[in-house]
Amino acid sequence: MPELPEVETVRRGLQPVMEGAKILVAEARRPDLRFPFQPDFVARLKGQVVTGLGRRAKYLMADLASGDVLLMHLGMSGSFRVIKPDNEAAPGEFHYPRAKDSTHDHVLFRMSSGADIIFNDPRRFGYMKVIARSALDEEPLLRGLGPEPLGNEFDAAMLARSCAGKTTSLKAALLDQRVVAGLGNIYVCEALHRSHLSPRRIAATLSTKKGETTDHAKRLVGAIHTVLNDAIKAGGSSLRDHRQTSGELGYFQHSFKVYDREGEKCSTPRCGGTVKRFTQNGRSTFWCPKCQK
Ligand SMILES: [Zn+2]
Repeated sequence: MPELPEVETVRRGLQPVMEGAKILVAEARRPDLRFPFQPDFVARLKGQVVTGLGRRAKYLMADLASGDVLLMHLGMSGSFRVIKPDNEAAPGEFHYPRAKDSTHDHVLFRMSSGADIIFNDPRRFGYMKVIARSALDEEPLLRGLGPEPLGNEFDAAMLARSCAGKTTSLKAALLDQRVVAGLGNIYVCEALHRSHLSPRRIAATLSTKKGETTDHAKRLVGAIHTVLNDAIKAGGSSLRDHRQTSGELGYFQHSFKVYDREGEKCSTPRCGGTVKRFTQNGRSTFWCPKCQK
């Protein structure tokens, strides 16, 4: 499943062909993705200029001149393809292979920039919805989302406060979208490894009994920033290097330190431990028991 850095990479890939361009044609080629398309989905998009393309957690948000916002979520297997008269590119490569079967091309936007933007989603867990910007605060899909992990308000003190009194594991707390928005299994494993904190550690230990923020919390927030920024940087260079749809760069795999590396030597200098895997809240946790405490 794409996580925040992948979605941000897709945003940066789509931005040049969407921002400032008019949606000349909008097509929904089936009645639903994860949810049914709204009856007026196409009508509210057609002829609209995209004034900005932003991101909130794992949602892409295209601002339209009408005052509506097009909310797009990639789900498990969704991806975008940009086709221009002279070339074709797919912004963002993910940990899973990109589907190439055009029978799963479910949505098309023909832009006045000359680009066709196609949304392909074999498993159809992705979704799109048009919402009035003035109603965003009440939107159930967005309501309750915690702070952006790369935003200014997310710091060690805030994370410690959100985790105060939580008896769940640190890993479960970080996956809770109300605590911090947009983190998924991969980058939570990576951030915990980088900060040398055990995924089993009790979340409440990010603050002292008196409510003071611990060094653990500071280390963890620093690690979250680093793993996300590194992945976004890798995504950005993949966009520049990307010249064809068939290219499977797979850069994220190369940058993982623990994720999917069960049995390999821990990459922490002088650790000498081995990466282990166990199932936690129904998902695989990868970690090094020797340097993560
Ligand atoms: Zn280690």
